[in-house]
Amino acid sequence: MEFEYLSGALAERFGDAPAIRDDNTQMSFRELDDRVQAAASRFRELGVSRGDVIAVMLPNRSELVLTIFAAWHLGAAATPINPNFTSAEADHQINDAGAALVVNAGPDAPTGGRPAIGVDELEAAAGSGVTLEPVTLRGDDLALVIYTSGSTGRPKGVMLTHSNAAAMSGSMADVMAMTAEDHCLLVLPLFHVNALMVSLLAPLRVGAQLSIVGTFSASTFFDRVELLRPTYFSAVPTIYALLLTQAEGRSPDMSSLRFAVCGAAPATLELLAAAEDFLGAPILEGYGLTEATCASAVNPIDGPRKPGTVGPALPGQRIRIVDENLEDVPTGNPGEVLITGPIVMAGYLNNPEATEQTLVDGWVRTGDVGVLDEDGYLSIVDRLKDMIIRGGENLYPKEIETAIGSLPGVLEVAVVGRPDAVLGEVPVAFVVPYPEADLTPEAVTTHSAERLTRVKVPVHVTITPALPKNPVGKIDKPGLRASLVT
Ligand code: ATP
Repeated sequence: MEFEYLSGALAERFGDAPAIRDDNTQMSFRELDDRVQAAASRFRELGVSRGDVIAVMLPNRSELVLTIFAAWHLGAAATPINPNFTSAEADHQINDAGAALVVNAGPDAPTGGRPAIGVDELEAAAGSGVTLEPVTLRGDDLALVIYTSGSTGRPKGVMLTHSNAAAMSGSMADVMAMTAEDHCLLVLPLFHVNALMVSLLAPLRVGAQLSIVGTFSASTFFDRVELLRPTYFSAVPTIYALLLTQAEGRSPDMSSLRFAVCGAAPATLELLAAAEDFLGAPILEGYGLTEATCASAVNPIDGPRKPGTVGPALPGQRIRIVDENLEDVPTGNPGEVLITGPIVMAGYLNNPEATEQTLVDGWVRTGDVGVLDEDGYLSIVDRLKDMIIRGGENLYPKEIETAIGSLPGVLEVAVVGRPDAVLGEVPVAFVVPYPEADLTPEAVTTHSAERLTRVKVPVHVTITPALPKNPVGKIDKPGLRASLVT
């Protein structure tokens, strides 16, 4: 099996074309492979061999990418760690993954008591000119262990193989019609599967270039786009909301953008429309989860896009909608989304019980409620675990959020269930207004009452300047729910 995204294959095909740049350095595909070989050689000296895991705890920068490719060069897997993690959180991931080596920012960074190499030493090693032949990889070799952000409990290590990565990066590049002319601006963190697949492997495998901007900042984003002239970027709804707050009164030149991608969490129609308007480029909304290597459905760049849906299944994947007994429901009816294809994870590391619950006969149980229409386009109704049960009636927060999102002046909204002695749970809303908007709780309630049956109207509305977010930028609904329990 050939893996087109490996550094050796990239160097062979794209040679001296620009591959990666960050704030400190830039390199061609050949230079990338040279540096990967030298780094891999150093990792081997430090004891890493085929089947091992290398943990890497760095902010987005070229050495993080080098580490991942160097791990693959040796037949090892990489587990990227959120650089903002506390020592306890990082140690948990390092030890759970059984890392043979930790690559980090320096002597004070967590190592979980394991061998470590700091980024300065890695940089020196990568520049040493040492060469090393890559191992021959198999499809079922582990490529990545990605820890889900744990919005539903303790983080679990999702094991993704090279077959998974090859299939996902290939179909992503296809549906986005990526070519060597493309240029991706990386804004999402590389410890999340979206950035790894949509912004790293998909563009590189077609010879496109990648600009890494370190930590995302809405205030400098427009300058970066004007300076670097990328053709696309991939982001989460929060980032689009932040960009819109920065956009007021500005008209930067966004004309280099061919498209943008939005996924990882629900986005309101209004948010996407306003962001498309401002960017002057289509935003392709997609849906997926780490357990299925990133995206399972996306609105295509070359085919019909249906706002409010996350598009059809990606090539090679199949989506089913089932009831509680895992029986298919008729088209147009809601049920749990199941996914299969070459992108199904190998399982959760060290957690056979969780694997057994999530993988059923080769299908991933997503825990999301969705609807497929006659054209095979998927709409995400909500997460099963976010459903509010009010006096026995099932309410989906997303439906309420969609209604509230259509009120002018609303930038972001989150609806969660608040415990209620009589009804069990009742919906309450948290609303972030645009900076200049004059929004009141009464206006939100009135607007909701005009659009929703009485039981769905939030019993309380809080206007707030910001919502709590998890490390990937998703609204922290468990945190919001916890804040309601006094
Ligand atoms: P955990 O699975 O532990 O809750 P997580 O949310 O970080 O952690 P991810 O794999 O990053 O896990 O996220 C996958 C989930 O994100 C999906 O199951 C779905 O609920 C949500 N999601 C992704 N894309 C969309 C989208 N376009 N619209 C709505 N929800 C989405």
